[in-house]
Amino acid sequence: MSAPNGRGAPPDVRLPPRGRDRPQVTRTRATALHGTPLGALGAHLAASDADRIVYDLTGIAHQYDNLLAELPGTDVRFALKACPVDEVLRCLAERGAGFDAASPAEIRQALNAGAPADRIHYGNTVKSDHDIAEAHRLGVRTFATDSLEDVTAIAAHAPGARVFCRLATSGEGALWGLNRKFGCAPDDAVRVLATARAAGLVPAGLSVHVGSQQMTGEAWQRALDSLAGTLVALDGLGIAPDHVNLGGGLPALGYLDRHGNPLDPPLDKMFAVIREGMERLTGLTASPLRLVMEPGRHLVADHGALRAHVYRLTERAQPDGTHARWLYLSAGKFNGLYEMDQVRHRLVFPTQPDDGDDEAYVPAVVAGPTCDSDDAYGAGRHPVRVPRALASGDPVWILSAGAYATSYTTQGFNGIRPLPCVCVRGPEGQH
Ligand SMILES: *Cc1c(COP(=O)(O)O)cnc(C)c1O
Repeated sequence: MSAPNGRGAPPDVRLPPRGRDRPQVTRTRATALHGTPLGALGAHLAASDADRIVYDLTGIAHQYDNLLAELPGTDVRFALKACPVDEVLRCLAERGAGFDAASPAEIRQALNAGAPADRIHYGNTVKSDHDIAEAHRLGVRTFATDSLEDVTAIAAHAPGARVFCRLATSGEGALWGLNRKFGCAPDDAVRVLATARAAGLVPAGLSVHVGSQQMTGEAWQRALDSLAGTLVALDGLGIAPDHVNLGGGLPALGYLDRHGNPLDPPLDKMFAVIREGMERLTGLTASPLRLVMEPGRHLVADHGALRAHVYRLTERAQPDGTHARWLYLSAGKFNGLYEMDQVRHRLVFPTQPDDGDDEAYVPAVVAGPTCDSDDAYGAGRHPVRVPRALASGDPVWILSAGAYATSYTTQGFNGIRPLPCVCVRGPEGQH
């Protein structure tokens, strides 16, 4: 689909300068996110008179290209749970991306998007015998694992398959840690891959996931150290993996934290740590070592936005006697903003002029439309500065909402339907 253009140019919208005291609203003069034009997204949002999720395929394609420019030669396996939207998957598959799938249904979706089976791996360490057999039947030959029990099942239901073993990480430095449920200690990983070899499987690799929206270069450093030690131990047994998989965790750049301060992840440092780390690992192995990565959020978050609208701006006495304003929006935790407990999205109120007049703003807790009290921004319910004059029906654009929006959407909680999803393309070279 392409952006409707019948309404002329989009309003110029500039995001607020960084800093905690700036209102989370924008001035209506420029179309930019970190100096990058909102481009196709802005044009489509401006032309939308109903709620939706919009993805900018051109932006996603450029994000993919940039990742490959930073880490040349990487086999990118997009973690499709971050955006299981067919057009997005096709766009990535056309550029050569493969997929990190977590179930037979995701494998089918990746195949339908045009990815060959040898560019899809089963990246979930949690799977039933039935799912392993089904993945094998669909042509998938590479499986994540982290336990002897799972290796035994893979050997039985996907004989001869390639396996890579996930090492545990602490999750430190990430907004979502992903620890404990997955991964094993280095010693156990050696045992798991040795057992795999004995069972007729190919001990093909090692993987990690440093946690989602990782905010530190040090987490990658620790993961690479752990991989190095494990590769040396494997070498002692004559096991030479052909790849390491650094998983997901690369951050989005456009989020605010729960207090409204910009999250500013040191992306350049992360890439430098990964490049240096890979060089070191390659020096430890006799055979060539490929780098696989499974970005999810990083490829899509900043290139998706919600068009929602205002339900009501209210003022009420709270149980503690204080007065609080609440801004209720048509989108919240259950229809596109599941991660609103950890991050805050930049909000744009395109019909409200920002003439710098502080009197025009009020602090309000921003919340979604449902009868669930979790459906609000931040555990501490931190207020956001919003235009005082907001009225029912006014549009609001919610930026950097492209990751995990559709996959975490409920099917009609309180009768609220999932948002329709639209993919647009900007002119090449715009980003
Ligand atoms: C979810 C997931 C990813 C993607 O994580 P992001 O933080 O979104 O990059 C990558 N690998 C695995 C195994 C996952 O479960």
